[in-house]
Amino acid sequence: MFRIENENDLRDAFRNLDRDAVEIPADFRFPIYVRDYLAWRESSGARVFLVFAEPEQRKTFGIAFRADQSRGVAPHHCEWCHSTGGSSEIGLLTANASDRKRVGLHLCLDLTCLGKLESRANLSGENSRVIARRLTANMMDFARRTLF
Ligand SMILES: [Zn+2]
Repeated sequence: MFRIENENDLRDAFRNLDRDAVEIPADFRFPIYVRDYLAWRESSGARVFLVFAEPEQRKTFGIAFRADQSRGVAPHHCEWCHSTGGSSEIGLLTANASDRKRVGLHLCLDLTCLGKLESRANLSGENSRVIARRLTANMMDFARRTLF
């Protein structure tokens, strides 16, 4: 659980090269208490924003993903929650690694991975908190390896 005090706090989670692109929804009410992560889509749907925190620490990390227009009928597979779906649900999300380099993952385009994992955990009897921690660890791992 972490808390985002205000809009500046939320913007500060993002790196300099992304900060200007962050579109904060008008209906966000601060402070926001986040259990695992916060994700939202830009009104145009072109960008998806993700904010999570390092366990045990209060540092927050924000990633501004861009949804690349991938076409095709083959089912896609989310690398974080392992859901499959069509190109309107799962696709390549890319983030700026630097001014010149982008890195990407195939993910649920709305980043509702946790909800999907929790529904599956409820059916299989797995501990949903363990699953949530594993998911945020995957987010952290991606961020550490490629972005921060
Ligand atoms: Zn997913």
